[in-house]
Amino acid sequence: MKRAIGILAIIAVGAPIMYVVYQTAFTSNPTNGKERKVINDGDDDDTDQPGQFGVDRLKEGKDVKPVAFDGKRAMKYLEAICDLGPRISGSAAMRKQQQLIKKHFEDLGAKVEFQSFKAKQRSQRGEVDMTNIIVSFHPDSKRRVILCAHYDTRPIADREPDPRDWREPFLSANDGGSGVALLMELGNHMKDLKTSVGVDFVIFDGEEYIYNPGDPKVKNDPNQDIYFIGSKHFAQTWKKSKDHCVYSAAILLDMIAGARLNFPLEGYSWDRNPELCRQVWTIAQEQGCKAFAPGVKYHVKDDHTELHKVGIPAIDIIDFDYPHWHRLTDTPENCSAESMEQVAKVLSVWLQRTK
Ligand SMILES: [Zn+2]
Repeated sequence: MKRAIGILAIIAVGAPIMYVVYQTAFTSNPTNGKERKVINDGDDDDTDQPGQFGVDRLKEGKDVKPVAFDGKRAMKYLEAICDLGPRISGSAAMRKQQQLIKKHFEDLGAKVEFQSFKAKQRSQRGEVDMTNIIVSFHPDSKRRVILCAHYDTRPIADREPDPRDWREPFLSANDGGSGVALLMELGNHMKDLKTSVGVDFVIFDGEEYIYNPGDPKVKNDPNQDIYFIGSKHFAQTWKKSKDHCVYSAAILLDMIAGARLNFPLEGYSWDRNPELCRQVWTIAQEQGCKAFAPGVKYHVKDDHTELHKVGIPAIDIIDFDYPHWHRLTDTPENCSAESMEQVAKVLSVWLQRTK
């Protein structure tokens, strides 16, 4: 088994994310890459456990057809979201986005719940209003799966080389907009989709409400802002609730509209839930969705790790090589309908086959 480790690239400026291990060879068990944590998820130690996702959770069904997902319409949703401007947690544009999402899914007959709470970021004086949005299809089903994405945008475009550009209005189309746009278009097809599980679209706030990304040279920089505020709140609330539903799996979508069509396996997803990864990437292969590349390319801490901490098997579909990440050029022009179509194709088959 090859385990050649190539370049260790540390992301110097924060991200939904942490650090990257590039592997020069794809491996079938790529779990022992070196890791360096430069992201603050608010926990002193890593409480993650190996995943519980069972091999029996996928029905046979190579003949299952994907929905007729309309990538062009998804791009229109993405543009409408970006027309609101930056959607920073607690901002007026964020509230407008919440209403846009609520109306869209209620018009489709889904149940929409706002999970609102207040949070305090380290670098900020006061508390900020946060709202996760939970859109439920077949709300009475006890056994459920999650498709999720964050919908807040980072207050600073801190991968712009000139810090004077960091505070310019930052649309963050792919990073924060694309997942919501995909779910909005997929929502148009949910009524006709035959599933044996209930489906929740969970849209997280506070994934990267980051004003102070921390000093990468300082280990556990105490001033570094905390990521994943919304997903942590959702996960902990679910865990504490006495009569909560069973979530058999969750798939996170982050930066899924890049024009390069690039989804290698994300390392934490593979390490903790290899069977779920295998199922999703196998469906991609069967459906001819070539954006889903085999092999782990990087480890990315993201909202899925918060779900995993409470025992929900969760994986991340992410294009972490997106060249406009945290830059002012992350605009709809640099996003692609085809990329979203491939992801939606895979998800819609998976939803029909998972049990
Ligand atoms: Zn981001």
